[in-house]
Amino acid sequence: DNPAPGDSKPRILLMGLRRSGKSSIQKVGSHLCTNNRDLFFFFFLAYVSDLVSSSSLSSPPPQKKSGARNFFSPLFYSIFFRSTNTDLNYLEFQDDYMEALTRLNFTVSKAFKVNPEINFEVFIHKVDGLSDDHKIETQRDIHQRANDDLVDAGLEKLHLSFYLTSIYDHSIFEAFSKVVQKLIPQLPTLENLLNIFISNSGIEKAFLFDVVSKIYIATDSSPVDMQSYELCCDMIDVVIDVSCIYGLKEDGSGSAYDKESMTIIKLNNTTVLYLKEVTKFLALVCILREESFERKGLIDYNFHCFRKAIHEVFEVGITSYRTGIHQMST
Ligand code: GDP
Repeated sequence: DNPAPGDSKPRILLMGLRRSGKSSIQKVGSHLCTNNRDLFFFFFLAYVSDLVSSSSLSSPPPQKKSGARNFFSPLFYSIFFRSTNTDLNYLEFQDDYMEALTRLNFTVSKAFKVNPEINFEVFIHKVDGLSDDHKIETQRDIHQRANDDLVDAGLEKLHLSFYLTSIYDHSIFEAFSKVVQKLIPQLPTLENLLNIFISNSGIEKAFLFDVVSKIYIATDSSPVDMQSYELCCDMIDVVIDVSCIYGLKEDGSGSAYDKESMTIIKLNNTTVLYLKEVTKFLALVCILREESFERKGLIDYNFHCFRKAIHEVFEVGITSYRTGIHQMST
């Protein structure tokens, strides 16, 4: 569905060659685009089945007909890319990316001319079969070629971000996390709150997770390593699975995730994982050392302030959350 004129909600449009993995990504990320969620209700994931070429236009695959759009029509560009805050993902096909690069260049240059505010995100997808060295090399090569093409077209100002993704590990969630974060106006505030929370509580790393999709909508400013992210994702899975089995009432009513949700997992390498409900859809997941966890009362108190501040950020805007920060103790 094309957005209504004047609609300025952020949107994510997924584009790519046929068989590049769009449907698969949409399946793993499908929780992102449900409408009845408070935080993400404003996201609109436009799923496009194919980058329609003139040949496939005449005979689109029957099961995907409805999703096909003519990307080469000026009307498409003028309608879809008119408003701000759109994210455009372009999927590369790892086997032979020359065609994908040509299409990428064509698409982004047209879209940029209609709306220079669009974020362009390039997913180099299906990298699970590649060695780490090969991944880096592929990314470097694609980056170089894509940017050279843009320079040739006189579009130096157009910025492309690149992500190596696969549906077989957490990389697709991590990439989506970063993409979604760019669309959240409150991000700097959330990061600030997380920074204050972890530094006052002796915590090493904290993520604010969307529990259902397992993307993190913010984290503190220390670098994210994939292992920590995966560990936290796995923890959410464990919590939800155990709650579904043991947490529901006998008649099956109740929720696997609610206000009371809170979990502490001690790993045998002196690491502690700490999860707590923040809002109906968000959880704070932290990684800390066992020694720091001795001051659990402090962590709980700071969490209480953090939670209050997050509610204020999403409910009443930016001005009043500050009181919440100052109340955190050290
Ligand atoms: P679409 O035409 O762009 O919607 O592509 P599909 O989602 O139908 O995917 C095409 C094929 O690629 C399917 O066989 C998927 O299983 C496969 N595929 C999708 N994502 C990945 C991935 O991350 N890694 C690998 N190895 N295969 C993938």
